[in-house]
Amino acid sequence: MTLDKSSTEGSAEGRADCVILHYNEIGLKGKNRPHFIRLLARRIEMAALPHRPGRLTRLSGRFLLDVKPETDWKGLRDALGRVFGLAYFARARKFPLDLGAVAEGVLEMIAPMEISSFAVRTRREHKGIPASSKEWDPAIGARIQARRHLPVNLTAPGTTIHIEALKNQAVAYAEKIPGPGGLPIGASGRVAAMLSGGIDSPVAARRMMKRGCEVVFVHFHGAPYLSRVSAEKAGDLAEILDGYQLGSRLYLIPFGALQKDIVLTAPVADRVVLYRRFMVRITERIAALESALAIVTGESLAQVASQTLSNMAAVEEAATIPILRPLVGMDKEEIIAEAKALGSFEISIEPDQDCCSLFVPKHPATKSKPVHLRRAEAAMPADEMIDRALAESEVLEITAGKRPVTRAFLEVHPIEVKEGV
Ligand code: ATP
Ligand code: MG
Repeated sequence: MTLDKSSTEGSAEGRADCVILHYNEIGLKGKNRPHFIRLLARRIEMAALPHRPGRLTRLSGRFLLDVKPETDWKGLRDALGRVFGLAYFARARKFPLDLGAVAEGVLEMIAPMEISSFAVRTRREHKGIPASSKEWDPAIGARIQARRHLPVNLTAPGTTIHIEALKNQAVAYAEKIPGPGGLPIGASGRVAAMLSGGIDSPVAARRMMKRGCEVVFVHFHGAPYLSRVSAEKAGDLAEILDGYQLGSRLYLIPFGALQKDIVLTAPVADRVVLYRRFMVRITERIAALESALAIVTGESLAQVASQTLSNMAAVEEAATIPILRPLVGMDKEEIIAEAKALGSFEISIEPDQDCCSLFVPKHPATKSKPVHLRRAEAAMPADEMIDRALAESEVLEITAGKRPVTRAFLEVHPIEVKEGV
């Protein structure tokens, strides 16, 4: 049988008994470790469930997920590729913990594979297991060489045959699939991410998820003065990001009326910064309702006029919880590359009407003075404006595999704002 080398080198398609999953242990010392491992187990189960897997077993330093005949491997592979906390995983075969049985099993496993050169690497779950790399690697390697006449290459093998000697069994695989790294979602608590329809904010949200944050999304749209296209884009972006956390809320805030109130009283040059200060205050209210401890934005230093250090400081002053800007030191090209990898780029570049462009001058201030901003705000019924915007908001509830459901803000948070304000 001739097989296409590019598609088969290092791949162990065919029968597979389980998936072995590894996490990075860096930073996992001490009392956080059991919590981290529990969260990761939950995240693996949530991701795997729709793909009909078998049982998940927690082992020392790794997980073993059983695979059944009805398991949808492709779907499972994609879903596991979005579980933060996983360093890598592999589709593997199980064998009795016996050198001869493993060698025979490995030979059968690699039978359909075209291999240019190989190396065997054995690891033990823990030191007490009688299957050391020193003994097993050369012994199994020699058998493969004898039967398949393949060259061994220990420095740059075409295929590495990984064997993991576990307590009661061994597993073997030839293809490691990289995980997304990071920490399991939930390990770092919750944040409220301001999600525009643009390129940057979805990338910022994903970065926070990667650091273990569960993210609640907040989008401001220009209704009733602008179209709702940006809100639809935000919904699509939130659905992409939900692929990582499986269960999300997107708050959709109509911002046009509030912007009009600002326009009626504030100096033209300060409008954009004032919009942002109100966005931050509203996001902070939502953060409190959602037990989120920080706000996240997609700002990158000096990318546009509104993102100078002094304007960041002027906006930040309106917040009482931290504003995190995971993209602050990144170039646009770097952000675009991440947006493409996330799959959000194509949606973000669709044209829309951003509410920040509503009623703004061509050249907004790059240095807004806090004292001016505070004076402008003192002339407005700020709390009422915020209550009204929240009362008219909607909450998009996203559940993986289902159509998102839109609910009124007051239905989700009945006591938060007085009806009719
Ligand atoms: P993005 O690509 O994320 O839209 P941007 O380069 O367009 O960012 P700005 O318009 O200055 O930059 O927005 C900076 C950040 O403020 C955004 O990344 C986002 O976090 C937040 N933001 C701006 N507009 C909105 C909006 N309409 N709804 C929610 N958040 C917003
Ligand atoms: Mg934008």
